[in-house]
Amino acid sequence: MPFVYDFDHRHRRPPMEMKDLLGGKGANLAEMTSVLRLPVPHGFTISTDACRAYMRAGWPEGLSREVTRARARLERNMGKRLGDAVDPLLVSVRSGAKFSMPGMMDTVLNLGLNNESVEGLAKQTDDERFAYDSYRRFVSMYGRIVLDIPGEEFDRLLDEAKQRTAAATDADIPVGELRSLVDAYKDVVRRHTGKAFPQDPDDQLRGAIEAVFGSWNGPRAIAYRDHEAISHDLGTAVNVQAMVFGNRDDQSGTGVGFTRDPATGAKGAYGDFLVNAQGEDVVAGIRNTEPLSAIEARFPRIYKELLAVFGRLEHHYRDMCDTEFTIEQGKLWMLQTRVGKRTGRAALRMAVEMTKDPGIRLSRAEAVQRVTAEHLEQVLHPQFAGTGYGVLTKGLGASPGAAVGRVYFTADDAAAAAARGEAVILARSETSPEDVHGMLAAHGILTARGGLVSHAAVVARGWGKPAVVGAEHVRIEGRTFSVGATVVGEGDWISIDGTEGDVVLGQVPLAETKPSDEFDTLLGWADFIRKGRLQVRANADTGADADNARRLGAQGIGLCRTEHMFLAEDRLPIVRRMILAESEAQEEAALEELRVAQRSDFVDILRAMDGLPVTVRLLDPPLHEFLPDVGELAIKEATVGLTAEEQRLYRAAKQWQEFNPMLGTRGVRLGVIKPGLYAMQVRALIEAAVDRVLAGGRPVVEIMIPLTVTRAELALARGWVEDAVATTIAAARRDNGLRPGRKLDVLIGTMIETPRAALRADEIAEVADFFSFGTNDLTQMTFGFSRDDVEGRMMSAYLDKGLLEHNPFETVDPGGVGELVRIGVQRGRATKPTLKIGVCGEHGGEPQSILLFFDAGLDYVSCSPFRVPIARLSAAHAVLGADAAAAPAKKAARSRKAGPARKAGPARKAGPARKAGPARKAVATRKRSPARKATGSRTVSGARKAPGLARKASRATTTPRSIKAARPTKAARRGR
Ligand code: ADP
Ligand code: MG
Ligand code: MG
Repeated sequence: MPFVYDFDHRHRRPPMEMKDLLGGKGANLAEMTSVLRLPVPHGFTISTDACRAYMRAGWPEGLSREVTRARARLERNMGKRLGDAVDPLLVSVRSGAKFSMPGMMDTVLNLGLNNESVEGLAKQTDDERFAYDSYRRFVSMYGRIVLDIPGEEFDRLLDEAKQRTAAATDADIPVGELRSLVDAYKDVVRRHTGKAFPQDPDDQLRGAIEAVFGSWNGPRAIAYRDHEAISHDLGTAVNVQAMVFGNRDDQSGTGVGFTRDPATGAKGAYGDFLVNAQGEDVVAGIRNTEPLSAIEARFPRIYKELLAVFGRLEHHYRDMCDTEFTIEQGKLWMLQTRVGKRTGRAALRMAVEMTKDPGIRLSRAEAVQRVTAEHLEQVLHPQFAGTGYGVLTKGLGASPGAAVGRVYFTADDAAAAAARGEAVILARSETSPEDVHGMLAAHGILTARGGLVSHAAVVARGWGKPAVVGAEHVRIEGRTFSVGATVVGEGDWISIDGTEGDVVLGQVPLAETKPSDEFDTLLGWADFIRKGRLQVRANADTGADADNARRLGAQGIGLCRTEHMFLAEDRLPIVRRMILAESEAQEEAALEELRVAQRSDFVDILRAMDGLPVTVRLLDPPLHEFLPDVGELAIKEATVGLTAEEQRLYRAAKQWQEFNPMLGTRGVRLGVIKPGLYAMQVRALIEAAVDRVLAGGRPVVEIMIPLTVTRAELALARGWVEDAVATTIAAARRDNGLRPGRKLDVLIGTMIETPRAALRADEIAEVADFFSFGTNDLTQMTFGFSRDDVEGRMMSAYLDKGLLEHNPFETVDPGGVGELVRIGVQRGRATKPTLKIGVCGEHGGEPQSILLFFDAGLDYVSCSPFRVPIARLSAAHAVLGADAAAAPAKKAARSRKAGPARKAGPARKAGPARKAGPARKAVATRKRSPARKATGSRTVSGARKAPGLARKASRATTTPRSIKAARPTKAARRGR
């Protein structure tokens, strides 16, 4: 394969699809040249193959010859030669990787100028000032990028020259001064490199190409790829292109243009323009730009032409494009295009509008794929309105959205202020579980220390609460914090943006968060796509949460944690009485009180979810969580002494204290030693359901036993539950007039949250109507990571060192935990094909994990209410991704029969194949269960065959580092 392709090379496929080889910029330059036939300056692309070869073993054999030939073709096309003393050709040498990395890599302009050709250019253009301006730009760019000379050296000389000549702008510097500036620049080069500035265009070209190759591994580029989860192996292409000059005169200029407004999505061209300017001037912010529409007044004919080009680009790419263009002496040149980045709001609006655009005709499925989870996240959280605010300091954007409030420095102060009705921002050096009540009360959280998996970050994300963490310049002392000389006192207003990590003094107005009509439209389409294939439920513990979840589109509750009801202030004493009971009678009395209390909670929830399934998990956490802290009581005993009641609590707390509560007396184990407990909970629940039936409602109840490890355990618990259900219903028929024919829908199932339960899912399924994977505990137990210990202390080191690709508590680990999920599904359904299976760990709201759960064959995912819209979208993406992966696999099979195999199958488009984890094998051999067949079109095996496409879909829908799964409080987490 050759290393070099001209922009007008006849590729066998549309060049825009060849970004792997040509890079994004090169692929689109070729597309504009050879397919759209737009005015693009001639040039050629050195492929990413060449870059990869260079990175492996230095300058590749044969590359010089190919470049020399391509250069000769370019020179013939242009009728000019590089370095020519009479009429020189100048070129740009531009980087361009597969994924756009704005501003991360390097480009050299005006290459080919030297001491002789600059004179030729001056004569040819009859413009000495222009020639020397181009030369000084070239020497400084080449010096900075290729020769590694600090840019300030050149900038300082330029500023001095401007001052000396009282020039207002670069363009006002007189030619004599430009000449001496070039000499001064060349001196800088000699001083830094010990050599003269290279005069031979061959040397210049080779140097620039190597510098672009090298910039792939520059620190900025590496950091960017880390952040965006782009592979480091892709390499960049290099584009060598004839220069056009926007800095030629007042009939020239340069600009960037979008075919629609990337901020709002509104139709109509949008962008910035500068007259008499070149390249980066527009983005560099040196001169004030004009809006794109200013071109209309100045160059009406060109403006029309530009709009026509924009129209063609949109129709061709079927999306909003961004462009770079230059006008040289009244002629328009297109220098770049690509599908443009956009805000969440714009993404929604464009996706929906493009389905109606006759030139684009986006399908609804395509529209759904155009919107990412990140886009939704943006529109679901408030943002700062506008941009006119000064940033006091920056930290890490740890939990998206913006918040405005008065700052308080302790959890107690924050909670007290919130109780007074104030909007509060809690500022701490870092947070710990003791701060949780203050965090809960706050609108936003700011910490001076800690990273993206610090306690503050993790808890805030779980609640969808804006947070900026690790704001290093913030110094907290007592009830003030300072940033440099600025001191902020308790009660002062500040604003934080947890998306960007900005901290601002005062109250920044927030943009409206009411989702647009397009939001509902698009999610409606997503629901249609995933209908009957993957449902979305919510984890909700109260009627209010359930209402909220339903409003956001939840199709039921996948996890109702009854312990939250126990922790309420008025319930805790009753729970404690139950634990402390010294006789059966005492215990029963306490349980009876709890039953009455729980019953009304259940009524609220069942009402909110009327007609939809509600999965209630029986008590899960270790009992000592309901008792006071042993350490505190010990101190109190030693100092002021304990009351009789406290002494009893102290004894009980010590008795229930465990070395390893995560692995201790919790879940069904608790039921085994306190059998009355589960019976009581079931009674309360069934009574609530009966109430609902009598009120004309339709409760759908699923009772879930936590932490089951063996079949026998579940069989035992199931027995209690069935008994309690039967006696309660019988009592209701007898006492409450429940009609004999009236049936109650009750399923009894279990969580699968230990490796053993997943492995023995076949046996467990014999006594379960449904499974729900508790992937938080499953992750803890599969890795042997105690989440509360590991996340704060070692997770960031593991991520930094690349020991883990993702935090497995946020994105489900495909190789281990994911494999256990697949095994659990497979074995469970082998026993019971109709087994209903879902997931209720926090992974249920995380886009990448949702792809895996769908692929594993789950019926539903369940997540925090506020992540439900994201899960709905991601579920649709999962379905579309699997279908798309299945379709080309079939097509490829057909075309193999029809003719010679194409080299690049669709599956290879997305780049180097993903590492195939062991999960791959298991599923490839998995038989489709009858239940799957019944639901029809699920195409798991197809998805397996084309990992490339599946991956592409996932890239489009997620940005792993910035989308974090929900995570509730420690106590709540414990229970999962
Ligand atoms: P980036 O990827 O950082 O945008 P580019 O390769 O697009 O880098 O180039 C930087 C700037 O130089 C852009 O404004 C681009 O339009 C301009 N530029 C690049 N090549 C040429 C050329 N052949 N003629 C005129 N301007 C050019
Ligand atoms: Mg560019
Ligand atoms: Mg659990």
